[in-house]
Amino acid sequence: MSLLKIERLSVHFGEENAPFKAVDRISYQIDKGEVLGIVGESGSGKSVSSLAVMGLIDYPGRVSADTLTFEGNDLLTLGAKEKQKLVGAEVSMIFQDPMTSLNPAYTVGFQIMEALKVHQGGSKAERRKRAVELLQMVGIPDAESRLAVYPHQLSGGMSQRVMIAMAIACKPKLLIADEPTTALDVTIQAQIVDLLLDLQKKENMALILITHDLALVAEAAHRIIVMYAGQIVEEGLAEEIFNAPKHPYTQALLQSLPEFAEGKSHLKSLPGVVPGKYDRSAGCLLNPRCPYATEHCRQVEPQLRALDGRQVKCHTPLNAQGEPLCPSN
Ligand code: SF4
Ligand code: MG
Repeated sequence: MSLLKIERLSVHFGEENAPFKAVDRISYQIDKGEVLGIVGESGSGKSVSSLAVMGLIDYPGRVSADTLTFEGNDLLTLGAKEKQKLVGAEVSMIFQDPMTSLNPAYTVGFQIMEALKVHQGGSKAERRKRAVELLQMVGIPDAESRLAVYPHQLSGGMSQRVMIAMAIACKPKLLIADEPTTALDVTIQAQIVDLLLDLQKKENMALILITHDLALVAEAAHRIIVMYAGQIVEEGLAEEIFNAPKHPYTQALLQSLPEFAEGKSHLKSLPGVVPGKYDRSAGCLLNPRCPYATEHCRQVEPQLRALDGRQVKCHTPLNAQGEPLCPSN
């Protein structure tokens, strides 16, 4: 059984008859111990889809799905008590900016011990011991004395380590890391990713790594999902996607990477941005930005379909040479 199973998950905002589809009928699953990368520009629905899994979409957002289960438990209909047991304990999430996720009014130790109290109970002494252990696990030196510090006394990298310690406090089976390194210096970014992967292996935890950085997930993830404007446009093994993307959007993400452009005079990237509520076109949502768009693309939405062990949502997927399989007109 897959750990997390999602079928046709949508998150809509705004009016019933003309909703903004922040997430539009996405399906994926993740197994125990697997690392899944979810990639896309900002506004592609990566974070919103994960917040929906965590039950963190508030009114006026509307979540619907044919299936949304964690180890067979239906997350859409679970009672408040069962949900509390699951979310934050078996599934937990860390966010982009640790400074806004930690409470500035409480010490690091208090916040970790509170997380333990809510989900695991135990005596105060046990929780304190576990809090020290957790800080050691995430590589914080002088763990014992760090319990008494406040978040503002920590650097960005240290704060993110504390967030990770809190997220893994209850030994989750699935950790969702939403842009966990974006707010950090480049050298610290690598350390945090290494730490996440290290913990993932040691604890045999499943990890969803959400990022706009395709190079990062290409190395870290087993499988990658590429999202655009709330939809999955490509899904497959990380290595295969990185070596030969089949979707024009994935190709553009790759071509905008500095390492890909080595030796070339400039980075190539798609013009424009992810369409918002009022500027979504008919047909394929990428068509205003896609170099291969045809008249057909402007009128008919492509379906996500299986191709060579991958899933691709494009009328003319790219071949191994990076050219559309059918010539554009
Ligand atoms: Fe580009 Fe057409 Fe494919 Fe959309 S369907 S990604 S516009 S080629
Ligand atoms: Mg986001």
